[in-house]
Amino acid sequence: MTDSNAAPHQCIRLRFYEELNDFLPQEQRRREFSHRIEQQLSITDLLAYFGVPRNQVDLVLVDDEPVDFTHRVGFQQRVAVFPVFERCDISPSNRLRPKPLRRACFVLDQQLEKLARLLRLAGFDSLCRQGLTELQIIAASTEENRVILSRDRELLKNARVSHAYWLRESDPPAQFREIVNTFDLRRTLRPFSRCMDCNGELRVAEESEVLERIPFAVLVAFDDFWQCEECRQVYWKGSHYERMAQLIETI
Ligand SMILES: [Zn+2]
Repeated sequence: MTDSNAAPHQCIRLRFYEELNDFLPQEQRRREFSHRIEQQLSITDLLAYFGVPRNQVDLVLVDDEPVDFTHRVGFQQRVAVFPVFERCDISPSNRLRPKPLRRACFVLDQQLEKLARLLRLAGFDSLCRQGLTELQIIAASTEENRVILSRDRELLKNARVSHAYWLRESDPPAQFREIVNTFDLRRTLRPFSRCMDCNGELRVAEESEVLERIPFAVLVAFDDFWQCEECRQVYWKGSHYERMAQLIETI
């Protein structure tokens, strides 16, 4: 359907911005290109054709005017598509969603357990449980306002998904940096506020409370302890803390 030799009157001009380019073949990235259509086409159909999940799109302009997903594009029109997590300012145009969700609150598919642990270590509410079904992930997202994090494009294409981010990186520390940068979370890092294991909140614990659950060497070496409100796991500024500090330095 994309054909730069097609008669110009049967074509539209298209450009995808920022990270939406990751969904496109190399030759269509970061440039305006011609796309042949047989008849008027809705924005939804157009995005489906290019494999760009609808929930990754925040703003579509047709001939410089904002439109919604049902808008039908005609011959010779110019279409510009902007992502949800656009870092540059695209206001004041009408967005397709009332307001983009940028809360640091996530639900991750079960392949991303290691990323979930890193996000929790940095203090971000990150639900990730083995055995969570696609429906349960979507329900957690809509009911608890969580952004779905996944590397599964099919999950993100589900029509019920409204806030989701498709991870480009595959290595957990790189994924962590990707999320912190994409969602601009640097200023909201809160190490030692959340349990790496269960996502429960941590509170400062007295030595007497944790005495029987930590090795003697730890008790001697550290003065400050935290305890998970949910699973009672005890934390101190040991190897996890060092790991977090090193990771933050690389952001
Ligand atoms: Zn816990």
